[in-house]
Amino acid sequence: MRRKLIAGNWKMNTSYKEAEKLSKDIISSISKSVLDKVDVLLCPPFISIGIVSKTIKGSGLKLGAQNVYFENNGAFTGEISAEMLVSAGCEYVIIGHSERRKLLHETDKMINKKIHKVLEAGLIPVLCIGESLEEREDEIFEGVIEKQLTDALQNISKQEMEKVVIAYEPVWAIGTGLNAAPEQISAMHRFISEVVEKLYDSEITENMLILYGGSVNEKNSKEILSACGVDGALVGGASLKAAAFCSIAKDASEIKVT
Ligand code: PEP
Repeated sequence: MRRKLIAGNWKMNTSYKEAEKLSKDIISSISKSVLDKVDVLLCPPFISIGIVSKTIKGSGLKLGAQNVYFENNGAFTGEISAEMLVSAGCEYVIIGHSERRKLLHETDKMINKKIHKVLEAGLIPVLCIGESLEEREDEIFEGVIEKQLTDALQNISKQEMEKVVIAYEPVWAIGTGLNAAPEQISAMHRFISEVVEKLYDSEITENMLILYGGSVNEKNSKEILSACGVDGALVGGASLKAAAFCSIAKDASEIKVT
């Protein structure tokens, strides 16, 4: 059976010391019964991956990065490779977050190259896709999502696809306090599943995790995580507060995968 995944994207927040404290606070607030049922992932800034890795060792929490570069090594100042992330204890990488697409001009082609590299290194990519407010209002959002998926998954084999996690994050819901309605979320998760089934087959979609992201917090998590087709959440703001993040993970542990 699919295990839900609750992922915390700390974005460009927390100093080295704060990252250590936040991970300690999460360890003390999360119960074993939650970790028995749900995968709980922390994605700190690059600079704190080492200390978070050390702090969470043996706790059952998982570690991921917020980004990666698509080359192995060399003259790429400021970039971090997939192998470096593996060597620091990461298991997951967020790829194609809308903030990177928009602010750092990350293209679908770059995202595709990153997914290839990450899979080669044995990491699990969390591929973020989502439409802007304008694209939703213009009712072209399904086309946008289909293109993002098709481009990102170019030449990814069926075997590799078994490892890919998708995060549906409508851009208009990220960091805005506006979350999509459960019916909108379920409809989009169903649509994503249909697109992936067309690209691969139903064996892939039956086991594929589709997370929802966009202003998930401890107050709305029960409703969002209960929506049909939601296998977990990618949490930004609320992942910076241990109590809120652990409460979201607890909600996930109490809801059956549908
Ligand atoms: C995110 O960073 O992916 C996100 C969904 O942020 P927030 O929860 O703050 O909207």
